[in-house]
Amino acid sequence: MTTELHPVQLVGAGPGDPQLITLAGAAALRQADVILHDRLASPALLALAADAELINVGKTPYSPHHANPQAAQERIHQLLIQHAQAGRRVVRLKGGDPFVFGRGGEEASALAAAGIPFTIIPGVTSATAAAAAAGIAVTDRRAASAVTILTGSEGGGGAPPVNWKAAAQVGGTLVLLMAWRDFSHIAEQLTAGGLSPSTPAAAIERASTPQQQIVRAPLGRLKQAAATLRAPVTVVIGNTVALATEPTAPPPRPLEGRRIV
Ligand code: SAH
Repeated sequence: MTTELHPVQLVGAGPGDPQLITLAGAAALRQADVILHDRLASPALLALAADAELINVGKTPYSPHHANPQAAQERIHQLLIQHAQAGRRVVRLKGGDPFVFGRGGEEASALAAAGIPFTIIPGVTSATAAAAAAGIAVTDRRAASAVTILTGSEGGGGAPPVNWKAAAQVGGTLVLLMAWRDFSHIAEQLTAGGLSPSTPAAAIERASTPQQQIVRAPLGRLKQAAATLRAPVTVVIGNTVALATEPTAPPPRPLEGRRIV
């Protein structure tokens, strides 16, 4: 007799506020036997899975583990496959959306290669949620007809490197993830590519969490103006930043202080 396999669920957790997971994502957590989660996973989300085994597979940026990210990633693939093959309900919980700079594609490929069924539950990506936290519409008919999402930390996975010169010419809004450490250099490259240093820009740390910080300054001065910010930071650049109207009230938290059964 072969064990019945449950599909592994690749679930987007949203940017930080536990309320920003989808209903499907929350249901998957409640039913999970084992959850492989990232370092910054919200305790409130993990608490949904009262009896599940929790495995932190987070890669601390710039740690020795990070020196060999491929080994760490392959270990995650092995764990996903082993737990699924044991007949357990496996959730892989990833920050934001699993398929936006989340290596969800690699995990999906590994599962497919091993013949493990899987489903993908998208999440609210920080690429738009961080902007929203600062009241920035990433597109706006008055200012931006395009939005380009870029990484400032290229993964060594074979994808062609970001063409910063081309990015400087696209127009519209640029959203940069994993770009804060090297942002001075990136800003220089964008400026060399023709983007004015006076272009409105904003840096948002830990959007949608109680630690959220927002700094707005022109591109050429942003790193200095926001020197105290620490990862995770999302940077938004473009004229739409000048139209931002910061939300005047925090999002409602109807679940706050309530136990979810
Ligand atoms: N899959 C995730 C992105 C993973 S890459 C998503 O869709 O959101 C990690 C980067 O995401 C960080 O370096 C930072 O640029 C951004 N990020 C993640 N959470 C964030 C948050 N709460 N506030 C601001 N930026 C965040």
